[in-house]
Amino acid sequence: MIDISDSINSQQTISEPVSLKGIGLHSGIEVSLKLYPAEADYGIKFIRKDITDNNIIEALWSNVTNTKLSTTISNQSGVSVSTIEHLMSALSGLHIDNIKIEIDGPEVPIMDGSSIKFVDLIDTTSIKNLNRKRKILKVKKSIKIEKDDTSVELKPNNQFSIDFEIDFPSKLVSHQSRQLQLVNGNYKTDIASARTFGFEKDVDMLRSSGLALGGSLDNAVVVGETKILNSDGLRFKDEFVRHKILDSIGDLYLAGSPIQGYFLGNKSGHHLNNLLLRSLFADKKNYEYI
Ligand SMILES: [Zn+2]
Repeated sequence: MIDISDSINSQQTISEPVSLKGIGLHSGIEVSLKLYPAEADYGIKFIRKDITDNNIIEALWSNVTNTKLSTTISNQSGVSVSTIEHLMSALSGLHIDNIKIEIDGPEVPIMDGSSIKFVDLIDTTSIKNLNRKRKILKVKKSIKIEKDDTSVELKPNNQFSIDFEIDFPSKLVSHQSRQLQLVNGNYKTDIASARTFGFEKDVDMLRSSGLALGGSLDNAVVVGETKILNSDGLRFKDEFVRHKILDSIGDLYLAGSPIQGYFLGNKSGHHLNNLLLRSLFADKKNYEYI
């Protein structure tokens, strides 16, 4: 079980603007990303600098418009930003509540396929306390979404905890489950550097669908029939399930505030994570703010 129990009671932002450049995994387009401090209760907003009108997209579950391979959010005018989950995960892991994210293209850069570059970037500045109480979403009723043999569940709990299980028909990935405690900031050491992954057999199919155009061994673990194709191998023996936890932390941060609840993921992904939040917010009896 992952206990993200570093108890931070005040809202936080970053002290100074920071920026980086990189390519989008699916678009292959180079983009620059700039993070700015924001005031209390601002939340997390993306601003598409390459678009002049209606270019603000709030990082919220209700704005999710596509969950195929990555999470995309869009505003009312259809302006979107995709592959936001690793950056959202870093912001959640570092307890950043308020931040303005300027981006000059349609997709957050993939960097090395994990969230460590975003964590390192934020580490180049300091975290600023905003002297306003954090609003925490407390889960009051269990919600479970099942689809075929996959599921996600949120249960009442006294902190934010995650259990994840995967089972792929590949002997290199196969069955992995992760239960660990995240305390004293070890999101950075245990989760942030776990990379996204894909199977060699799927690469041609993805490319012909116009996806993974920026994908390479520099930004994903590629699993072949008999071996991992990356020359340095894996960063953790169970890097795959750790990455699924990284993704879930990012997707769940689209709740708009930290969650006090127990998340269980079983072979699930971005789509079920969003359905879970939609179902949570569908009934006010499911949650309360504390
Ligand atoms: Zn991911």
